Amino acid sequence: MQESLMIYNSLTRKKEEFKPIHAPHVGMYVCGPTVYGEAHLGHARPSVTFDILFRFLHFLGYKVRYVRNITDVGHLENDADEGEDKIAKKARLDELEPMEVVQEYTLNYHHCMQEMNVLPPSIEPRASGHIIEQQEYVRKILDSGYAYESNGSVYFNVEKYNKDFRYGILSGRNVEDMLSNTRSLDGQQEKRAPLDFALWKKASPEHIMQWNSDWSRGFPGWHLECSAMGEKYLGKEFDIHGGGMDLLFPHHECEIAQSTAANGKQAVRYWIHNNMITINGQKMGKSLGNFITLKQLFSGTHELLTQAYNPMTIRFFILQAHYRSTLDFSNEALQAAEKGMGRLLEGYEKITELPVSQTSSVSVADIEKKCLKAMLDDMNTPIVISHLFTALKTVHAVELGKETITDEDKKALLKIFEIYLFDILGIEQPNEKNENSSELLQKTITLLLDLRLQAKREKDYQKSDEIRDALTGMGVVIKDTKDGYEWKVN
Ligand code: ZN
Repeated sequence: MQESLMIYNSLTRKKEEFKPIHAPHVGMYVCGPTVYGEAHLGHARPSVTFDILFRFLHFLGYKVRYVRNITDVGHLENDADEGEDKIAKKARLDELEPMEVVQEYTLNYHHCMQEMNVLPPSIEPRASGHIIEQQEYVRKILDSGYAYESNGSVYFNVEKYNKDFRYGILSGRNVEDMLSNTRSLDGQQEKRAPLDFALWKKASPEHIMQWNSDWSRGFPGWHLECSAMGEKYLGKEFDIHGGGMDLLFPHHECEIAQSTAANGKQAVRYWIHNNMITINGQKMGKSLGNFITLKQLFSGTHELLTQAYNPMTIRFFILQAHYRSTLDFSNEALQAAEKGMGRLLEGYEKITELPVSQTSSVSVADIEKKCLKAMLDDMNTPIVISHLFTALKTVHAVELGKETITDEDKKALLKIFEIYLFDILGIEQPNEKNENSSELLQKTITLLLDLRLQAKREKDYQKSDEIRDALTGMGVVIKDTKDGYEWKVN
């Protein structure tokens, strides 16, 4: 590696050279979805952002263990310690088992991610499958003295922790300011202080998801799962922890406090956060009527959408902004992304047809270097895309005879598209899969109708009728002609 990857670390608030603890191995943990509803635009950005990092680390030669969890228990409404569990609430409203809710929306999330060509993580652990590990983690924090039991629940003692370490190191907040902005406790609560957060919650009898523990029948606090599962799969210290900026506080701040309290040191070297998506300048929210699921985007079935968008268009649109900038979603912006991506893909198709010369008047190597430099600079995908457009200009100039290119440079140009547009940015030719499968379908129907024709010629009318009836039942309209048949799909 000639140059190294510079990455912005939310913990130190500056770009740092990425140096893995156990190179070439890299441990990366990203907070995945809480699966109580369909995957939406807000899920698309972190998934794509960390997919790019995953792909780029691979490209740089690292062996990455990528852990992205599924939150299926313990995430209470309003991200606080009070209120109903998000999954239990959905289960109650839909009259389902909580695990039915989890299954439905995990499958939906996986489907949407696959559509957007987001690679699956190496391990996808679920919170409900790691109750024992989470209980062990609570015990460690109790043993180190930074937690207390109260009426069957266990809370993290923020004040005590803050005396020895610093609570707020990631978010830049300090405890005094936070306290002055928090209502004091009314004396009815189990917590000793308002900033304390739950590690284990005693369940009320009607709470659907509960497990036995040393303290009560209950369930783990939301922040705990990521500390416990991160340690289980990546060790007490690992390289990267990522997620959306909305998770920075309190979720990630609490994770740091938990691991420091349990092990005496922070678990994570590089904290990486993607910025949020706004819709026509507004935050996305159910109450604002601008909550758009990925399924609606793919099918164009939301009143704010003027058309359906290919999943690749959404991916390309997300990559047109740097991951740390906000990204405003609108039909116009998506249509522009669709057009731009289409031009790049068309340009790529033309490269093999370009005439070659003895000499090149263009510098292809220079474009490739610039693409790499942009990726090494904190994954600057919009700059990579701008260099791909420079490559596209080169293609057009050679096509028009304004510039010349050698065979070698032509291959290098192809490689730029293949490495940066396809492998690293993860754009695939839209509908390539669909085209392949519809071609396969055409061939299969033709094959069956040929077999039917053969059966007829051999006077095996029973078989020929069987084939006709089966195909008709599937909606294939068959018309016998003088020389054979015609068919169409109804
Ligand atoms: Zn998390």
